Amino acid sequence: NSEFVQKKVVILGGGESGAGAAILAQSKGFSVFLSDKGQIHQKYIDVLVAENIPYEQGQHTEDSILDADLVVKSPGIPDTVPLIVKLREKGVEVISEIEFASRYTQAKLIAITGSNGKTTTTLLTYHILKTAGLNVGLAGNIGDSFALQVAENRFDYYVLEISSFQLDNIVSFHPNISVILNITPDHLDRYGYDFQNYIDSKFNIIRNQTSEDHLIYFEESEVIQMELAKRKPAVSLSGISLEITLQQGAYLSNGVLTADIQDRFFEIPFDELPIKGPHNAINALAAISVAKLLDIENDKIVAGLKSFTNAPHRLEEVEVIGGVTYINDSKATNVDSVFYALGSFDKPVILIAGGVDKGNDYSQIEELVRNKVKGLVVLSKDADKLQSYFSSIVPQIYITQDVQDAVNKGKEWGLVGDIVLLSPACASFDLFKNYEDRGEKFKAAVRNLVNP
Ligand code: ADP
Repeated sequence: NSEFVQKKVVILGGGESGAGAAILAQSKGFSVFLSDKGQIHQKYIDVLVAENIPYEQGQHTEDSILDADLVVKSPGIPDTVPLIVKLREKGVEVISEIEFASRYTQAKLIAITGSNGKTTTTLLTYHILKTAGLNVGLAGNIGDSFALQVAENRFDYYVLEISSFQLDNIVSFHPNISVILNITPDHLDRYGYDFQNYIDSKFNIIRNQTSEDHLIYFEESEVIQMELAKRKPAVSLSGISLEITLQQGAYLSNGVLTADIQDRFFEIPFDELPIKGPHNAINALAAISVAKLLDIENDKIVAGLKSFTNAPHRLEEVEVIGGVTYINDSKATNVDSVFYALGSFDKPVILIAGGVDKGNDYSQIEELVRNKVKGLVVLSKDADKLQSYFSSIVPQIYITQDVQDAVNKGKEWGLVGDIVLLSPACASFDLFKNYEDRGEKFKAAVRNLVNP
């Protein structure tokens, strides 16, 4: 048909989500071009070549991009870069991979966001649903890209870990169940240092939800409460609480995780779960709420909860050496997660923190640090901010750029019963490839204490 004009989709960024979006776009009959300003990982180049998808790397050639009908942008690219601004000025729609993929699936979507706890809650929810026998996929910031899985029509349900960057560029994305675990300052460098911009981005998750859909949210978050009061969304609400018994929702009461949602009831003692700490009670209550809303039977939920293993680098116990416990919480890349990490221990802590500061305000942990931290090791290229904030609060501070040196200092200061905790409150890019690299090097350094 000569009148048929093939629409062009340009994918910006050739990582997991970009490569998946390219495959989905190709399968839907678009003309596709993928452009990455950096280097594309060989495994994605192989995919693009195999699928005959044209691409470039090392640059963005504007002539090949500005004529797009639709642009799918990697979450790593800020909206403020000149290329995106130009596209928007031209009226080209720029969306995220989550938005793009969701346009091509009828599957039920469970979308989980929050400043902290996303991965744990997503993995746990997925594990419960899978254990219960649902045909469920895991996507978003974890696993295979959502777009790729949609292209292959793999699942009837998806549990999606959704970051604010993915939510910045949605239009019609519409989860059946959404979860907002918490909203505390993070990534402010990407949001004009305005917390409200970041909050608005997170709340995009409910933007297209109707009264048929559900939002599960943490009651004790003042930010979430205020936003709900302001927005009065149509979506059906279900709370999570550690402090009060809810009429409609899930809560912790006398050590028992309880859910009472739409006449469905569930309970389990929290200490029967493998994950510990108050933050994990919140995460478990969120996962239980999702399972109850999907009508999963209680014995299956119990089986899922009890057999769950969390991803590494989240309050992960590494070794006990000479009575001192070494804990790897490298994933704690903001202040709120350190708040919960410190709140999980009632023993003296030697805290190893530092890295790339994302606009941190340490006042939230000041009291906890004063009461629990007997020594602070700053593992960072730039130690000034942590040092000046905490020098009058902790008895001793040591500064280093070497992870072994940091761990050795922990051993030197540590007495029987103490905890040496890597919980950095910062991103890792100054000294490490990523938080996983930081966590692995920390674990290796701890093991060196036993077998140097
Ligand atoms: P995310 O994917 O949002 O970064 P993770 O599940 O990977 O979340 O956990 C990151 C860190 O945040 C963990 O190290 C943990 O200490 C902390 N954390 C986990 N769940 C919560 C929660 N519900 N509230 C606050 N902090 C949490």
